[in-house]
Amino acid sequence: LVSRKKKNSDTVIDLGGTRVGTGRPHVIAGPCAVESEEQVFAVARALKAQGIEIMRGGAFKPRTSPYDFQGLGLEGLKILRKAADEFGLKVISEIVNPADIEVAGEYIDVIQIGARNMQNFELLKAAGSVNTPVLLKRGLSATLEEFLFAAEYIMSRGNDQVMLCERGIRTYEKWTRNTLDISAVPILKNESHLPVFVDITHSTGRRDILLPCAKAALAAGADGIMLEVHPNPAVALSDAKQQIDIPSFDHFMGELRASGLFE
Ligand code: PEP
Ligand code: MN
Repeated sequence: LVSRKKKNSDTVIDLGGTRVGTGRPHVIAGPCAVESEEQVFAVARALKAQGIEIMRGGAFKPRTSPYDFQGLGLEGLKILRKAADEFGLKVISEIVNPADIEVAGEYIDVIQIGARNMQNFELLKAAGSVNTPVLLKRGLSATLEEFLFAAEYIMSRGNDQVMLCERGIRTYEKWTRNTLDISAVPILKNESHLPVFVDITHSTGRRDILLPCAKAALAAGADGIMLEVHPNPAVALSDAKQQIDIPSFDHFMGELRASGLFE
């Protein structure tokens, strides 16, 4: 179902007027984790000012350590919805438990399945059983074949609104958090008809190379990029070292537009 051999036209996903996969790229931005209403509203206001249509924010956080901030849960989804409605944005958030998939559809426009859950088959099947669009991230060390089979799990249950997201893979390199596999973009676009995004924040873990990686992703044919923006990254409850503040985001967007790769 994911294969371009079966369907040769690009899949376009309509998020209530925001159309993904049309050839015009999207930026998905927002904090790593939802921390408070004030924090999310500050980011939403900044996105609106930049003409960005899709906001991200984690409510259920799949943290490496069980002692780290685990997210606000359902309360976080409610904050995202409130901010999205206030500023006319679409919102995406990660769901980690199959039992939460259905209720998530009441609050968010796109369900994110994170890298750590790419092969959580019960979660994939649950996401396949609802009508909410899904953004599936590539596993930490998943091959592209495994990635597409994970998308197939969702589609085989009836949900054909799936977006793929390259977010870097594990290699021996230590100067980036993960290694951004830019070749994944044209390969996934050739093999599949689904929209492809690149998460430039989690793939690099470095603020100083976000812009060239964003340009590379769009030049390679990505349908959009994702990045983390926080009003005050220094006090962020997760990923403090990699999120950018709002003035940096405004600067980033200015440079991206000047490159001609984003309108
Ligand atoms: C995220 O986008 O919030 C996240 C945790 O990313 P990943 O699943 O790619 O690590
Ligand atoms: Mn993060």
